[in-house]
Amino acid sequence: MIPAIKLIESRSPQAPADIVASFPAAGEAGVQAAVLLAQAVQHDWAARNAAARAAALARAADAVEAAGDELAALVVREVGKPVTEARGEVARSVSILRYYAQQVFDPVGAVHEPSGAGLLFTRRRPLGVAGLITPWNFPLAIPLWKAAPALAFGNTVVLKPAPQALACALRLAELLDLNEFQVVPGGAEEGAALAEAADVVSFTGSGAAGASVRAAAVRRGVPVQAEMGGQNAAIVLPDADLQSAAAQIAAAAMGFAGQKCTATKRIIAVGNGDEVRQAVVAAVARLGVGDPADPGTAVGPLIDRAARDRVLEAAAGAVAAGGRILTGGRIPGSARRAGGAATDWGGSGWYVEPTVVDGLPADHPLAREEVFGPICVVQDASSADEAVALANGVRHGLASAVYTRDLDRALDLGARLDTGLIKVNAPTSGVDFYLPFGGEKESGYGGREQGKAAQEFYTSSHTITISPSS
Ligand code: NAD
Repeated sequence: MIPAIKLIESRSPQAPADIVASFPAAGEAGVQAAVLLAQAVQHDWAARNAAARAAALARAADAVEAAGDELAALVVREVGKPVTEARGEVARSVSILRYYAQQVFDPVGAVHEPSGAGLLFTRRRPLGVAGLITPWNFPLAIPLWKAAPALAFGNTVVLKPAPQALACALRLAELLDLNEFQVVPGGAEEGAALAEAADVVSFTGSGAAGASVRAAAVRRGVPVQAEMGGQNAAIVLPDADLQSAAAQIAAAAMGFAGQKCTATKRIIAVGNGDEVRQAVVAAVARLGVGDPADPGTAVGPLIDRAARDRVLEAAAGAVAAGGRILTGGRIPGSARRAGGAATDWGGSGWYVEPTVVDGLPADHPLAREEVFGPICVVQDASSADEAVALANGVRHGLASAVYTRDLDRALDLGARLDTGLIKVNAPTSGVDFYLPFGGEKESGYGGREQGKAAQEFYTSSHTITISPSS
């Protein structure tokens, strides 16, 4: 009997009947074959001189830039990202490629005083095949912020993208046009197979998948980094510019339907709860909800039905626990609040209204665990110290924001928040690709990504002594 072929299919979240990509899954054997192929070309790639590797990355940047409009439209169609953000992601992807095209020329070691005559120096060398396992929410930027440094420093790449973003990854591979960059279609099985075969593993996604990828790589003794979810807090102090803070918080919590690891999930009001609630609800009401292809849209659909239902269930669970929905909680256009039977808006698209909840105890799941969607909670603190304790009281540690005009307060709180990213008067979301990025606690494991930190992760340092022959 011929075994059934497993198809990997991505569908447009705003028009679920629209199949954007459909390809056979690579399977374990396909992943192993891709890694063998990548191993076979890695030596030659690493042996190319720096200028040649830089030129390949610069050509890739030009190709991505030239296809910018088409790529942005594909991102909109495949993952439902609002077009303004999709264009921003394409521009960032070009910048990432150009940045690492230049980093190829950075020093790869340091010369030290030898103990005798001769030379004593360190030299960084590539690790081999980088296995990259990525989520769907930044379908171009995340694969590239891993692949560009991996390639720049002489590794070859096998990318296992999220099934929901397969078309973006395959188009990226066409544009990069490098034998050293391959894409394997698949899901968890293929991701696990890659973690079992690559020489270095970089993962971004949910905590559960990250833990299993990490365990596999650690067991094999290969370097691994895992960037996972967040439960990011924005602390609003009484002296903050409330209108500006509320606008930023609304955008950071609800933009792209809250589907960013750095999205604001908790708003901690310090002694100004009524004003913060009012300003945030008003700012959320100003956000455009609807078709992500419309430049006026900030909040598009959720990635799929299950994601949409998780948000509705979270809102219903909050109400059942005595919480209050300040705004949202429904499928747009439907009259029922969360908890009622769900009907689809206009027959298509996995939309949920941007939802703000309050009145929950700090240990309620919605206050503690990431729900990857447009939902956040307001919490009250009577002092800055209590706000820090609340912000830090979760297992995640990705991003936090503090809104204040008081420099001393900003410095003090900034030093005490246990997240990898700390912003003052700036939203939790948004990342500068030329600085190290990653989370503390259960949000991140195994070294930072991006910026200069990437060289360290994708290479290992060798200490070399050269003495005179006699
Ligand atoms: P996910 O964990 O479901 O999938 C991520 C990738 O891992 C996909 O390619 C998937 O196919 C693969 N995968 C799933 N199970 C696996 C397994 N057992 N072994 C190996 N691979 C496996 O995550 P998602 O739904 O695609 O993305 C959403 C999550 O990603 C959220 O939790 C979000 O916070 C997180 N995220 C984190 C960052 C960050 O940098 N910290 C950035 C973006 C997204």
